[in-house]
Amino acid sequence: MITIEEKNEAQRRAAELIVRSGFVLAKGEVEKIEVADFGLSRLSIEGAQILTLVQTDRIGAKIIVMLPGQTLPEHRHPQIGTSPGKEEVVRVLWGSLFFYVVGTDTMVAGHVPDGKDAVYTLRHEIVMMPGDQIHCRPDEKHWFQAGSGGAVAFSFSSTVHDTLDVFTDPQVRRVTVMDDSSEGGKLPENSKERRQ
Ligand code: ZN
Repeated sequence: MITIEEKNEAQRRAAELIVRSGFVLAKGEVEKIEVADFGLSRLSIEGAQILTLVQTDRIGAKIIVMLPGQTLPEHRHPQIGTSPGKEEVVRVLWGSLFFYVVGTDTMVAGHVPDGKDAVYTLRHEIVMMPGDQIHCRPDEKHWFQAGSGGAVAFSFSSTVHDTLDVFTDPQVRRVTVMDDSSEGGKLPENSKERRQ
């Protein structure tokens, strides 16, 4: 759960990094940046800011902004019915990104978020700088973390089914819940429709 203030602040910081990357935002896109805390309620440690540029039933293109040291939890994109899992290319535009895939332990630059050893199983580190890109095949587990200055990356992919991604951490919830209590007190039970 995140507060409106946390969301606004994360959007503002993400937009700042996107501008720094040289990518030009269109009017109204700052407000479209999704702030995801993965249901873990510690956005600055585990989370991501995602601007969807296009999403159809066949392709997806996004800008992923990782704030300094922020980690996107380990997950894979499984097969859905007869369609193979999402295939994804991540290309770093700005900053540094530590990317983890299956392989021997080469972790030096990044770190597993405190207390999360059991749910970050991959330790094969690829340090990505602007111009570097990586291709994740369907169903291949991965996670990543920004360096100390943050990172801005493109994500190009086949069909997106974000809510069906499989996270190693059973506590992860892909849909971000907003805490409305900071905006004039908790809403009564019967006004849930205002939440989202
Ligand atoms: Zn992924």
